[in-house]
Amino acid sequence: MIEPPCATFSPAQHPASRGYDQPRGYNPLEEKTLEGTELALRSLAILKLCADLRKPGLLEQPRKPKMRRLEEWIALLELGLAEENWAASCAYGSPHQKEFVFLSTGLPAGNLHRKCTRDHQHIPIQGKWTKQSAVYTDKLAWALAECFHQGLTVMHREARQHSPKTQGLESFLCNDVLLSHSWKVLKHWHWAKPTHINIQETSTTCRLLKHLALKAASTRPVIVMDSNVGLSALVKKKIPPQASGHGCEGQGPQHLQEISILHTNLGLRDSMLQIALPATQTCPCLFHPSQRAAGR
Ligand SMILES: [Zn+2]
Repeated sequence: MIEPPCATFSPAQHPASRGYDQPRGYNPLEEKTLEGTELALRSLAILKLCADLRKPGLLEQPRKPKMRRLEEWIALLELGLAEENWAASCAYGSPHQKEFVFLSTGLPAGNLHRKCTRDHQHIPIQGKWTKQSAVYTDKLAWALAECFHQGLTVMHREARQHSPKTQGLESFLCNDVLLSHSWKVLKHWHWAKPTHINIQETSTTCRLLKHLALKAASTRPVIVMDSNVGLSALVKKKIPPQASGHGCEGQGPQHLQEISILHTNLGLRDSMLQIALPATQTCPCLFHPSQRAAGR
């Protein structure tokens, strides 16, 4: 909620800094006029940002300020990014007929609209009552809070509907491609000696790259790995921390070194120049005997 100062925009200012036909000021660079314009434009910019981000936002002014004649204010209305509503504070329990205008986005601000019921007396806004009349009554404050509550509730509901949780390593696209195609085994082998599973998986990618370098050079292969640790090690070119202390020191860097050489020298260089590595995806394999051997 934004309430830029209305002093230089007020019709009560004398002598007037602005006119309804010159809302930017008779002398736009005069210090107070310029400050008022800057604060108004920043407020309108924030409201436009709220509209762009589909977040609730509300700018409040007295009902008849010259600020409403700024082309930026009018543009927000004409573009359908904001709506304008007004309310008489006496309808919210004030003794004054002070009227406010609300420029809002993402809020059911039409609910704020109240006219004077013309069945009561008003205390004229002058002298000591001038400042007092600008204070929201409790009823108006509650109405504004309720308005924001409803706007935020709708915003969160829409966010839940349109933004499903996307955390995690799996990709719908990758899983779908893997499940919807038929595959065949090209190579299989036994690992000669026991070592950490991350090292074994990284060495498998090394074998695959050697194969690709000979059979499909100058291509950008997409490699899907079961191991996110192995994949991350390849992308970062760092040994998996889990590999240390398992009697396999030196093997991780060796595989990474081999993979780097394959990228640069055996026709997969284009991939390296573009993205540092061939495109990689992770996909969990639910049955993985080697993981059992590694005690995972
Ligand atoms: Zn009234």
